Amino acid sequence: MSPRPAIVARDLTKRFGAVEAVAGLSFVVPPGSTTALLGANGAGKTTTLAMLLGLLAPSAGAIEVLGARMPDERYRALARINFSSPYVDLPLRLTVRQNLLVHAGLYGVPRPAERIARLAAELDLAPFLDRPTGRLSAGQKTRVALAKALVNEPELLLLDEPTASLDPDTADQLRGWLERYRAARGATILLASHNMAEVERLADHVLMLKRGRLVDEGSPAGLIARYGRNDLEEVFLEIARRPAEVPG
Ligand code: ATP
Repeated sequence: MSPRPAIVARDLTKRFGAVEAVAGLSFVVPPGSTTALLGANGAGKTTTLAMLLGLLAPSAGAIEVLGARMPDERYRALARINFSSPYVDLPLRLTVRQNLLVHAGLYGVPRPAERIARLAAELDLAPFLDRPTGRLSAGQKTRVALAKALVNEPELLLLDEPTASLDPDTADQLRGWLERYRAARGATILLASHNMAEVERLADHVLMLKRGRLVDEGSPAGLIARYGRNDLEEVFLEIARRPAEVPG
């Protein structure tokens, strides 16, 4: 018997008034995988992540996360999940350490000071740990957001553009860190990204979204071979630029 999926989304739809941000999206994320959500600006990636977290109620469709139906059973799963997004600010007047302590408290992390010291060392936060979060550079904030996301050692990590605004060296280190975290924790990662080299490196499986619909999926190597392209960037461009499919 195959292990239970980390995420199952069935016919997921989200409408904001006249805008159909997600339009009948179905996919499965296997446990222990790194799966990437790709799509042009406005394709529905962030909306999908927000529904998976139980932050937004779907207009239609069903979601199961770590065996819990979302959003109704979210309290069964939320302690085992975490997320980071450059679009969600931590309170700016609190220092980085205070913000991390608040989140450690919310998740009931044992020995929070130790956990924060370890994250600070691993993600190189020590130089600004006691600075107000509002006085960090964009890249420093991104690292703090990731530390926040890891404070409870989640089994499922949802990442919205995890390396946005990081310099190439820091981004590379962070990708290595995510790979090691996944392997050590046996965690599942679902990430939205516009960085195709990052996705080729990290992801086992890619979900290609267009206007809220799944238009293709596969492993990065499988998609590159199937489209007869050199890399995932070329596959992305081909899918993004081909004429709109008529919904079936
Ligand atoms: P990006 O790559 O730019 O981050 P995305 O794939 O994450 O894009 P979403 O943020 O999910 O896309 O947006 C999908 C669509 O839903 C867009 O057309 C967006 O304008 C619309 N949308 C998102 N949130 C709202 C909202 N609260 N009210 C109205 N429309 C919204």
